[in-house]
Amino acid sequence: MTDFSNLKTKYPDLIPIRMDFECGPGWEKVLDKYFGEVAVALPSGTRLRLERVYEKYGSLRVDAMPEGPVANLVHLALDKAEFLADSRSYRYCETCGEPASLRDKHWLYVACEAHANGAPPLPPDEGGIKLDGVAYEYDEGLDDLVVVTPRAKRPTGAKR
Ligand SMILES: [Zn+2]
Repeated sequence: MTDFSNLKTKYPDLIPIRMDFECGPGWEKVLDKYFGEVAVALPSGTRLRLERVYEKYGSLRVDAMPEGPVANLVHLALDKAEFLADSRSYRYCETCGEPASLRDKHWLYVACEAHANGAPPLPPDEGGIKLDGVAYEYDEGLDDLVVVTPRAKRPTGAKR
């Protein structure tokens, strides 16, 4: 288990030096992106209250909020960054960081073939998220959230 000291050095204002992340070292790049996005989103002088970084049901979860009152847009940006981190974590092995899939063998985990322990790959389970009444989903090609619109969905029962 890494102590993620590289990230703590890179984001000293965001990550308490003694904090333990309850996840594997393979997600360092996912967390690097997350903290990069948070650093951009937080107004100067506003601190991040980072409560927990952990794995749950296979994927990466972050519990964090801005310290003190901030504009709604800042909350929205942090919520988006959290959901992006969760979505991205389904694609990288929690152990080694190589391209990976969700696996289910006694419990859910994200692993590459080498760390899969024989479990077959499953599709990611990120679903979507509704923020301020707008539905978003993760677009892997864009590596970003996109707004879900009804016409973006393929009509069910259409002939192909
Ligand atoms: Zn691996």
